[in-house]
Amino acid sequence: PLSIVLLLFISCLMSIIGKLRPWTSLLPPELLSLDLATRLHIDPEITSLASTDFGKLVRVIPAAVLYPLSLDDIVALIRFSFRSSVPFGIAARGRGHSVRGQATAHKGVVVDMRSLDNDHNNGSRIIVDRSSPSVNNWYADVGCEQLWVDVLHATLEHGLAPRSWTDYLYLTVGGTLSNAGISGQSFRHGPQISNVYEMDVVTGRGELVTCSPQTNSELFYAVLGGLGQFGIITRARIALEPAPTKVRWVRLLYHDFIAFTRDQEHLISFNNGSEGIKGLDYVEGSLVMNQSPANNWRSSFFSPDDHSRIISLANEHGILYSLEVAKYYDDEVDGELEALLKGLSFIPDLIFAKDVSYIDFLNRVRSGELELQSQGLWDVPHPWLNLFVPKSRILDFDSGAFKGILRQNNKISGPILVYPMNRNKWDDRMSAVIPEEDIFYSIGLLLQSSGTHDWEHLEEQNTEILRFCEKAGIKIKQYLPRYQTKAEWVNHFGPKWDTFKQRKTKFDPKAILSPGQGVFTS
Ligand code: FAD
Repeated sequence: PLSIVLLLFISCLMSIIGKLRPWTSLLPPELLSLDLATRLHIDPEITSLASTDFGKLVRVIPAAVLYPLSLDDIVALIRFSFRSSVPFGIAARGRGHSVRGQATAHKGVVVDMRSLDNDHNNGSRIIVDRSSPSVNNWYADVGCEQLWVDVLHATLEHGLAPRSWTDYLYLTVGGTLSNAGISGQSFRHGPQISNVYEMDVVTGRGELVTCSPQTNSELFYAVLGGLGQFGIITRARIALEPAPTKVRWVRLLYHDFIAFTRDQEHLISFNNGSEGIKGLDYVEGSLVMNQSPANNWRSSFFSPDDHSRIISLANEHGILYSLEVAKYYDDEVDGELEALLKGLSFIPDLIFAKDVSYIDFLNRVRSGELELQSQGLWDVPHPWLNLFVPKSRILDFDSGAFKGILRQNNKISGPILVYPMNRNKWDDRMSAVIPEEDIFYSIGLLLQSSGTHDWEHLEEQNTEILRFCEKAGIKIKQYLPRYQTKAEWVNHFGPKWDTFKQRKTKFDPKAILSPGQGVFTS
């Protein structure tokens, strides 16, 4: 009888709360009895904000958005859905900088991770530890809602910084670790997922687990590059290195793609300090086409005079390739850099260098973003396509996609990146998928529409490129993938699919987490 009274009491309480705050029919009303109920919002303005992302290509409305105060809220929410007879989807949303709805949850709950950065969590969710005598053991324990730019500022106060970066720093730690986190440092240190020592993860069963290569290693490897499928990462222990103060930042221009890629591959071969050569700290590259400005949002680099000279050369050749490198230093850099660049085959005289502070170098694309924002050109649709192309087929990709499709279609607006990485800096036990070859290229077609509605033609161009690769037998892997069918996912993961599926059954058996990725349906 006591339990009946208690049940009656709870149901009365819920109906009172329900009357005070309108509730959604999409979620079980029992959710309102949890402590987190006051932090669950169903107002259309809030659910609408969480229904789309940076890409602005899809709109998927959740039933509610949770603004968690602490990890307990996340644990309670997932546990509730897991134990419910009708589980609902839950998606962590970092900064919502996916482009195809990966951080959405149709009729489920989006967890706004950024709200963990609050006073309840002592204000600071970045703790640096350099107590170890070995530099190889210095790290920062970082809340996964933190932006990389904030991690940079906090670690620099200790004279340290993470080793591996993304080009753009206004992304959350949890968001990039769910993919890979790549940039020009990846050839040397691997992606960001290769630079993590330990994590706290709330699994799809609502269990908070600490994992590392030594403890709960299966979860550790599953989560890194795991597209949010196995758990919500709440803390990551990130590897740090002593931070330099200055950077020599250089661009070299080519019209010959063979010479360009040969030089890139040569430069990334110095990646472990062997033979006494420390090598470069950053190697990337991009296309300069007659329609696209040589300075785009990724960096304002060239002076106006150089800029017009480069554009007229690009007009002459159709495409120029810009090899971009950086060397970190404190006092002296000339001799070492000269030795590294000696013998490269760039167009004589077309070498441009500048010295910038380390922080300005890492945050180099921010000024371009602010510029586009001021012109109303940042919050527009972005039908991006990111591919990993095996080295053995990069020349075919250049002929078919760059010189073929892109030049013929004449639809270029936004940066196009092309740079190589070393496979041995990735760990195959992780969920991230890359081509089989020792060296592969990251191709980023970071196109943007000029208005809110004219993105379809760019999407058609992406389809044309994918079709070309398929027809030509180029075994690409998509980075930041989003597919429509199970067959496409199976093909994407290849030999890793069975492991990925088994891990899902183990850590998120009811397929609650990150439904917006579209890998599993609940
Ligand atoms: P969201 O878009 O919010 O989430 C992405 C996915 O991760 C979702 O499935 C979400 O559910 C899941 N997720 C989010 N947080 C967590 C968590 N704590 N635990 C578990 N799962 C979680 N990528 C690069 O590698 N290199 C770059 O240089 C780069 N530059 C970019 C520049 C711009 C302007 C943009 C828009 C994107 C760029 N990206 C780059 C892509 C970016 O890394 C991914 O889109 C990343 O997922 C975005 O982070 P986010 O915090 O916005 O994640």
